[in-house]
Amino acid sequence: MTDIKENNNSDKNLSSLENSDSTKDILVIGAGLCGSLLALRLAQRGYNVNVYESRPDLRVTDISAGRSINLALSDRGFRALRLAGVEDKARAICIPMKGRLMHDIEGRTFASKYSGRDGEYINSISRGDLNGMLLTEADRFENLNIHFNKECTNIDLDTNTVTFKDRNTNTSFNISSDVIFGTDGAGSELRKSYFLQRKFLFSFSQNFLTHGYKELEIPAAADGTHQISKDYLHIWPRGEYMLIALANLDGSFTVTLFLGHEEGTYHFKGLDTEDKIKAFFQEQFPDALALIPNIAEEFANNPTGPLGTIKCSPWHYKGQTLILGDAAHAVVPFYGQGMNASFEDVAVLDGIIDKHEGDWETIFKTYEHVRKANADAIGELAEENYYEMRDHVANPIFKKKRQLEMQFEKAFPNAYFSKYSMVTFNENIGYFEAMTRGRAQDKAILNMITDNAISTTIDMTKEQLKDVLHQVLEKTNDILDDDKIAKTMHH
Ligand SMILES: Cc1cc2nc3c(=O)[nH]c(=O)nc-3n(C[C@H](O)[C@H](O)[C@H](O)COP(=O)(O)OP(=O)(O)OC[C@H]3O[C@@H](n4cnc5c(N)ncnc54)[C@H](O)[C@@H]3O)c2cc1C
Repeated sequence: MTDIKENNNSDKNLSSLENSDSTKDILVIGAGLCGSLLALRLAQRGYNVNVYESRPDLRVTDISAGRSINLALSDRGFRALRLAGVEDKARAICIPMKGRLMHDIEGRTFASKYSGRDGEYINSISRGDLNGMLLTEADRFENLNIHFNKECTNIDLDTNTVTFKDRNTNTSFNISSDVIFGTDGAGSELRKSYFLQRKFLFSFSQNFLTHGYKELEIPAAADGTHQISKDYLHIWPRGEYMLIALANLDGSFTVTLFLGHEEGTYHFKGLDTEDKIKAFFQEQFPDALALIPNIAEEFANNPTGPLGTIKCSPWHYKGQTLILGDAAHAVVPFYGQGMNASFEDVAVLDGIIDKHEGDWETIFKTYEHVRKANADAIGELAEENYYEMRDHVANPIFKKKRQLEMQFEKAFPNAYFSKYSMVTFNENIGYFEAMTRGRAQDKAILNMITDNAISTTIDMTKEQLKDVLHQVLEKTNDILDDDKIAKTMHH
């Protein structure tokens, strides 16, 4: 093994629990969000963990370029962070966003809360700060070592041997391990080796949107405060394209433009001069343009990222390797759930290790069995939400539906949960159930509004509202029953 002392932290002081498993070594490829939380949790369980990350240590080097700078963290993510005892540390660096603030083309804004229940909100958090916090927590364990600038280039699935390239010295070395976890993101080497080594029937799909994204910045005001409200996720929905902005702790906002690569009236390829970029923003997002002083420079220098969904199966091989997080199920960012789902992976896996500690084959099989449908569901929900955010948030029928759902959640907080609430705030409901029930609810409400079958006025008495809720729930259950019958007939 090559020298690993460089990252050994002198104040490593935490020893982990003894565990009964005879597994000697665990190797984690990728110390991103999922890998660092997974490694921390495995170290807490008493395993000897080595983590290899291709990039330099983000706590000492600025490497944010090209990846989303901030993210929305919500209840599923918190559940996993809680399990590892770091929820409070994450909350301390969060900016709560209680709703969306929509900006129309004339610069008017209207707010829409995420839930009718108090205390249900999402949080803006810096990827770098969160990842750094997890690395620092992980670093405290004497049975865990993180090796930076070590890029995995191959995994021999027969011998469980990983080849790394040391990016400092440009030399390669091999490491074998009892168990290997691939948390190396959407371009996973471990997933690639499943595909290329043809040891088993590996199914894989990668679906790119015709849209990509680019990040820009609204800087802080001269006095360090936020120039627009930090309490909302800002959205400029424009049908074919969309701008969003999430606040950072330093008073700035990270702005993300979602736009066609080459399609549509405007597209990334066509916006190739300062004049064209400014004219596009002036026409579509004039209020945002006024807040982004370096737009032309940032537009030219910041990369345009792809947006894709990855689905694959199986995620594991022989009780020796497993992929988690984006490596197994990358999703588009429109439900704000990719990181949350990746964190949830760690919590789900942990619960299964509790039951089958020592028997990795059973752990990996059980894990995929319980997790796969949920991972597929968030992939679908995220793609669906792309269209909802772009188009529907401004559509009158959708607005009415949203208003009604808010009233239900406010008046009957234990009886109604919108699809968004189930996905975002109910970590005890799996994504698949949230999707199935949420879709049926949406269908029921939209049909009933279109048919004028229910009232959507905002001045209903509680009794009237209860009656509408009753009708919606009944219709939802009818739809779910019909779906069940249709499925049985299919088989
Ligand atoms: C524009 C955008 C906005 C997003 N917004 C949200 C949001 O609001 N909320 C949310 O929940 N999710 C969001 N996501 C999704 C989220 O970023 C991912 O789901 C999350 O980062 C997945 O974590 P991961 O650890 O699996 O992968 P990654 O974060 O990609 O980490 C993988 C790590 O592995 C390392 N690595 C890669 N290859 C190798 C190799 N060969 N050898 C060694 N190391 C390697 C990488 O350097 C990296 O550190 C967003 C994504 C995008 C693109």
